[in-house]
Amino acid sequence: MSNLYIIATPIGNLEDITLRALRVIKEADLILCEDTRHTKRLLDKYEIIAQTMSYHQHSKISKIDKIVGLLESGKNLALVSDAGTPGISDPGNKLVEYLVENKIDVNIIPIPGPSAVVSALSISGFPTDNFVFLGFVPHKKGRQTFFKNIANEKRTVVFYESPHRIRKALESMKEYLPEKEIVVCRELTKIYETIYRGTPGEVTKKITPEQIKGEFVLVVR
Ligand code: SAM
Repeated sequence: MSNLYIIATPIGNLEDITLRALRVIKEADLILCEDTRHTKRLLDKYEIIAQTMSYHQHSKISKIDKIVGLLESGKNLALVSDAGTPGISDPGNKLVEYLVENKIDVNIIPIPGPSAVVSALSISGFPTDNFVFLGFVPHKKGRQTFFKNIANEKRTVVFYESPHRIRKALESMKEYLPEKEIVVCRELTKIYETIYRGTPGEVTKKITPEQIKGEFVLVVR
C-alpha cells in the first residue's frame, strides 16, 4: 500500500524542520505543494532535488483524481503547505477528507512539526489543558458574533487574523472583551517576531502602524 505523508514545514524560520521531515521529503516520489515556488525555498536550503506538483484550495477534482491515481499505482507522496501543519486552516484537510471518505487504500502518515496555533499557545502563559481553535476571523458576516462568543468562552481561545484586519479585530475586542487578557503573536520564528501582551486596549497602544505587517495569531485567556 502506498503512503501519503502529511508533513509539517516551517512557519517562518527554515531551521524549524525535523530530520524525519527532510528524509521523507527526499524519499517521496512526489511532493504536493500549496505553492511550489514557496516550497522550493525550503528544498533549496536543504539541497533537495524533488519532483513537485501544486495542490491548493482551488485545485479541481481532476487534480484529486490524479493524486488518487498516483497513490493507487504505488507512489509515495508527501503533502506540504506554505506554512506549518497541512490541514490546519489550509487545503490539506480536503485531500485527507476525500481519501478517508472514499476509502482509498493508502496509509496517511503525519510527520509532526511546527504549527502557528501551538507555537502561540506555548508562549501564551494561559491555560492550555483545554483550549479552542477558531481558525480565521470571518471577514464580514459573523464577525461581531465571533467576538461576542469569545467573551463568553471559558477556555483559552486561539485564532488567526490577517494583517489588513488586525486593527479592526483589536477594536472589536476592546468593545466586546475589554477586560480579557490577550496575547498577539506577530511573525513567529521570523526576524520581526514580536509578542504583545495585555488587555485589547493595552495591546492596541503597543502596536505601532509600522508593525501592522506580517502574520498574526491571537490568543485570549
Ligand atoms: N497550517 C498553518 C499552521 O499550521 O499554522 C496555518 C495556515 S493558515 C493558511 C496561515 C495563517 O497562520 C496566517 O494567516 C497567520 O494567521 C498564521 N501564521 C502562519 N505562520 C505564522 C507566523 N510565523 N507567525 C504568526 N502567525 C502565523
